[in-house]
Amino acid sequence: DYPIYGRIDGPIVMIGFGSIGKGTWPLIERHFEYDADRFVVVEPDKSHHNFLRQHKLNFIDVALTAENYREVLGGLFPDGKGFCVNLSVDTSSLDIMKFCRELGVLYIDTVVEPWAGYYFDTEDNAARTNYALRQKVRDEKAANPGGTTAVSCCGANPGMVSWFVKEALLTLARDTGREAEAPADREGWAKLMQSLGVKGVHIAERDTQARRTPRPRGVFVNTWSVEGFIAEGFQPAELGWGTHETWFPENAHRQETGCKSAIWLERPGAITRVHTWCPTPGPQFGFLVTHNEAVSISDYYTVGAGHDPEFRPTCHYAYHPADDAVLSLHEMFGSGQQQQKHHILTEDEIVEGIDELGVLLFGHEKNALWYGSRLSNEETRDLAPYQNATGLQVTSAVLAGMVWALENPQAGIVETDEMDHARCLEVQRPYLGPVEAHYTDWTPLKDRWEHFPEDIDESDPWLFRNVLAS
Ligand code: NAD
Repeated sequence: DYPIYGRIDGPIVMIGFGSIGKGTWPLIERHFEYDADRFVVVEPDKSHHNFLRQHKLNFIDVALTAENYREVLGGLFPDGKGFCVNLSVDTSSLDIMKFCRELGVLYIDTVVEPWAGYYFDTEDNAARTNYALRQKVRDEKAANPGGTTAVSCCGANPGMVSWFVKEALLTLARDTGREAEAPADREGWAKLMQSLGVKGVHIAERDTQARRTPRPRGVFVNTWSVEGFIAEGFQPAELGWGTHETWFPENAHRQETGCKSAIWLERPGAITRVHTWCPTPGPQFGFLVTHNEAVSISDYYTVGAGHDPEFRPTCHYAYHPADDAVLSLHEMFGSGQQQQKHHILTEDEIVEGIDELGVLLFGHEKNALWYGSRLSNEETRDLAPYQNATGLQVTSAVLAGMVWALENPQAGIVETDEMDHARCLEVQRPYLGPVEAHYTDWTPLKDRWEHFPEDIDESDPWLFRNVLAS
């Protein structure tokens, strides 16, 4: 009794069949009509081929590169229709998105990814920021507005969390006795956030999924792409920079071109800790790992422009990954070596835990509101095959984005902030487990160890100066 959201004419090409691709496929199968003979996976890792064969899925054993992607994808989309679902690492989202739009093929991805080598071989840290990667996609949108829909960054985060920000704003408006009508445009949403007194947003996540056996030394264990996490963890820490901030970190840089909504720090995100809050642990450390949504949300909710707008929220990721991943990071940064063995925890080996992923809107009259999904691995097993809770939060967002693209096929290049959040959440919600709103009186100045002096400013608990852990 699963709803069918529409028919996809032409081929569906899925690039990458890792943890997210493998989990997205059953949702596509469940919710769309399409010609199964025209579903093709591009996957160079042989360890996935057996599964593909066993499930009678067409695949080609090719790694896309800057040199071959036009030829390979051009051959797979011969008739100017279809859907390209890009769920791989190491392929340029921008190049593939542009080519799909040229062909008239719908496109979706979950991250602005560059070609292989970019994250580690680029010397200029500013060029390695998500700001730089995203700005190129925004520049392409500005240069070529409209046309075939290409949905950029539609996973859990970036992706779903942008829809949560809107739900959280409406919840906060309702709970503070205000009009809770959804604004009709970007300016309306930005003004709503400003009028509610929101100073900023943490993408506040706690992943408690765990398996029975301890992590072996020398293995990087995670609940989603190890490669993807290492790459983003080594990018500079980065955050949308709000108008309420009164201090500027010594190691920070502003951006000189584009929307200028974010700053970046001369330090890898995965060893930069922030004080944050989630419902299960309460106060906790999160890592300030750079993410597209930190830049896009700060940009979307800006009233005014440039380095000195009238209003802009601070926004950043505050990620406490699964405990095994925390230990993996500790080992990797401590040794200066990437582990040679990578492992993504499967739904079958995880024995407990949830992925609690939400947005923490702070600084307003009710202090802070966390709004998000608290999906357990156990519930995930009942909802959809071949993925853990982290995976399902991502794949169900891809599903929602695909539905939206089919319903809006000429919307041009869009980010999730620019999509109909209510429609997307309607599609996604059956897969998110409990979606809850929690108010808290916690602030970054509470529950601190008081034995040593800290560089804090007590005049406003929600300043980034207090959020950043020393
Ligand atoms: P994964 O590492 O499990 O799988 C990636 C797959 O891409 C692998 O199977 C690999 O063989 C394939 N691949 C590598 N290079 C390729 C190339 N040149 N051409 C074609 N395929 C190639 O990763 P995952 O967990 O499935 O994540 C996939 C992507 O989704 C990553 O980019 C990740 O950052 C992103 N992601 C986004 C979110 C989100 O919430 N927005 C969450 C999780 C993952």
